[in-house]
Amino acid sequence: MVPEPAPKTAYAIIVAAGSGHRYPGRQSKQFIDLCGKPLYLWSIETFQKCPAIKGIVIVGPKQNQEALLEMQQKTTLFDKVISVIAGGDSRTESVSKGVTALAATDKKLCESDAILVHDGVRPLISNELIIKVVEQTSSQQVVIPTTTPTATVKRIAGQKITETIPREELGLAQTPQGVPYRLLCEALKHWQKNPATPITDEGALVENLPLNRRANVNFVNVSGEPANLKITFPHDLQQAEIMLQKNNCQEVAYKPRQATGFGYDVHAFAEKRKLILGGIEIPGHMGLAGHSDADVLIHALVDALLGAVGAGDIGQHFPDHDPAFKNRSSLYFLEQALTIVRERDFKLEAADITIVAEQPKLTPHIPHMLAVLKETIASPCQLNIKATTSEGLGFTGRREGIATYAVATVIAN
Ligand code: MG
Repeated sequence: MVPEPAPKTAYAIIVAAGSGHRYPGRQSKQFIDLCGKPLYLWSIETFQKCPAIKGIVIVGPKQNQEALLEMQQKTTLFDKVISVIAGGDSRTESVSKGVTALAATDKKLCESDAILVHDGVRPLISNELIIKVVEQTSSQQVVIPTTTPTATVKRIAGQKITETIPREELGLAQTPQGVPYRLLCEALKHWQKNPATPITDEGALVENLPLNRRANVNFVNVSGEPANLKITFPHDLQQAEIMLQKNNCQEVAYKPRQATGFGYDVHAFAEKRKLILGGIEIPGHMGLAGHSDADVLIHALVDALLGAVGAGDIGQHFPDHDPAFKNRSSLYFLEQALTIVRERDFKLEAADITIVAEQPKLTPHIPHMLAVLKETIASPCQLNIKATTSEGLGFTGRREGIATYAVATVIAN
């Protein structure tokens, strides 16, 4: 029995080096926000997830260390990203630098390996299109996705229209374009000797070779995707946003490697209530008003945890009009918030809490609070509680209540 051939794989060079002169504003267009993350990151994520891609080189803007650093940081966790490098003055120069970086970092690169070159400002590239281009690229075959123009196309010469060109004979080129490594190197070398030739895509780069050196090369057209649009003008970005919203932006929300949330809460003192702080009862002082046990410390910590994982706030999860939470121990809210943190694939790494109270003296109670909170958290983390006064100023200074500030840092599992 003949074994099935292994699925084809390829390398990707994602070019996000342009200065975007046609796009208004001071920021290069590849860095503008699209549904919560920079434009360039969308396509990199799709290539990272695509099983047909074994390595990625990202080409960022020339002489912009800050931008390159951002690209490096945002792709730290992408195991397929081999290198993030600065591009050149032209698209072709940027591709050339990408190929050099690829060759320098991946010693296993073969002459027939497919290299897919993709525009970093085409954020909505699909996994299916990447696979289609990879599968059809071979040692003598260049693959270019195209779409058919929807408008009637005219040939013009100045003010004159000289011809109506049948649409079915035309294709609007997209990326990624697939070129075998050896042929791409040869075409780049030839272009470097004749750099004046304007080149706008890799198909044209190979076409630029002398006829005798490309006589056996097939240029193959595969069906491109209307969604794989190139963001050139602000209306393109709006169109991309609409498409993503249709596909539910929530599902593809950016997930940070690490995040910090902030929480703040205040409760007023009230007669005939126990003072509960940090999950323990502080004897000998009036308590705090509230629907639950009014543990202002835990409420601030819960808000910090929910904030760190982008899960809203304590009021959304535990409404103060819900009888289920009346006089409830706030340790329950902490347990629930920690469950939400776990469900979102994070773990609590560290939390720092500051209680602001003129009275009672809280410092002696901190070790007990830490012990109770750590027991509820039940996983190793750094936890710190500080108590301070507001020097007699404000509502805490007037002994009207207690305020608490908390920050919590979570890391992805
Ligand atoms: Mg509260």
